[in-house]
Amino acid sequence: MKKQSARTKRLIKADKELLWHPFTKMLEWEASTPLVIERATGNYLIDTDGNHYLDAASSLWVTVHGHRKKEIDSAIKAQLGKVAHSTLLGLGGTASIELAERLIAIAPKGLRRVFYSDNGSTAVEIALKMAFHYQQLKNKKKVKFLCFEGAYHGDTVGSMSVGEIDCFVDRYKPLLFDSIRAPFPNCYRCPLKLEESTCKLACLAEVEKIFKANAKELAACIIEPLVQGAAGMQTSPPGFLKGLSRMAKKYDVLLIADEVATGFGRTGKMFACDHENIRPDIMCLAKGITGGYMPLAATITTEKIYKAFLGTRKAPDAFYHGHTYTGNPLGCAAAIASLDLFEREATIDNMQPKIQLLKEELLKLAKLDYVGNVRQKGFMCAVELVADKKTKKPFSVKDKTAAKVCLKARDMGVIIRNINDTIIIMPPLSIKTSEIKKLCKVLSKSIRDITE
Ligand SMILES: *Cc1c(COP(=O)(O)O)cnc(C)c1O
Repeated sequence: MKKQSARTKRLIKADKELLWHPFTKMLEWEASTPLVIERATGNYLIDTDGNHYLDAASSLWVTVHGHRKKEIDSAIKAQLGKVAHSTLLGLGGTASIELAERLIAIAPKGLRRVFYSDNGSTAVEIALKMAFHYQQLKNKKKVKFLCFEGAYHGDTVGSMSVGEIDCFVDRYKPLLFDSIRAPFPNCYRCPLKLEESTCKLACLAEVEKIFKANAKELAACIIEPLVQGAAGMQTSPPGFLKGLSRMAKKYDVLLIADEVATGFGRTGKMFACDHENIRPDIMCLAKGITGGYMPLAATITTEKIYKAFLGTRKAPDAFYHGHTYTGNPLGCAAAIASLDLFEREATIDNMQPKIQLLKEELLKLAKLDYVGNVRQKGFMCAVELVADKKTKKPFSVKDKTAAKVCLKARDMGVIIRNINDTIIIMPPLSIKTSEIKKLCKVLSKSIRDITE
């Protein structure tokens, strides 16, 4: 552990006395020695004592072009010189219009109406209400949602109702609406207990059975396309998403793509949907949309769904939903600057060799004694630790093996996080090759130190 100044000690004391951290067992937090981040530069976070840490978690999956990126900083300052906030209720705004043009230009074909909000959970909540309301206008029997085992879509009551991670939602079950769940082809630990090679097709067949049995009642199906993030970067095998998309069309069920985590280059293409050329009816965006700078989100849908809400000339209708900071101009300005950078710096082309390097480095990690599985889609990666490689037996929960590995890595200057015994690696797209090597070296050493 590094030496702390009196100021750091004071701040930590105040934090422990006054703050309540998200998703945090506060008893453990109070007993821990947290870092206090004061500033950042490029791919590094800097704490109150001036220590630098490689931000290999992208500040929880948001940072795209690095921190303190000149172009985004300037765009926000320029917007501040115009207006920081003005409402979209009854008024238009330059930044929200210009960003909508940019988003529609890159979104999967068919998506062309942008509904703004300010975080991923609300982007999903809006998608669910939009889909439900649309079906109420078309076919009142369609009231249910199909979601996937292991899914995470946010923490509001609606998004929790289509979430399947038990420790997040168990306590609130009585508050949640019923959803129908389908197996996600997490092939390392196949939900149908099959070999990796047969898992995908069997899961698709199972999903089709569920569609068939429930089509009359199903309003929409929601999925994290290609990668279930919070489930520990569970990647679906190629073709699964395409198959699902075909089924949704066949059974007249809307498809909601929750690209909150996967969007904006994270999987190696702008959107995960682009890998399999699918056209969802609704797409949810947040996290990386502003390059990781500001709270902004968007739910994008088709003209067909939009039109259904118009009502008639005599009785115009509305989608009764909105948030105070909807389409905040500072967030929109940051998002436009981030999209400019994607073009100017050819961010996605430039990340391809880095994806390859990361793949090679992960394969090295896979050889370690206690690494059961490594998963990767672009820059969304996971290293799953197990007590026994052969039987895939997990470590005892109370050992907190992966948490200890992450703490060890932090001492060596790398910020990564674990979900249970899976270590998540999700670097900013701006990470350099030398930094990828450093990251994987530190991770390898940390795993060996803790498990041996
Ligand atoms: C993070 C996340 C959300 C929730 O976003 P918040 O901004 O934290 O509310 C929803 N869906 C997915 C796939 C996510 O990764």
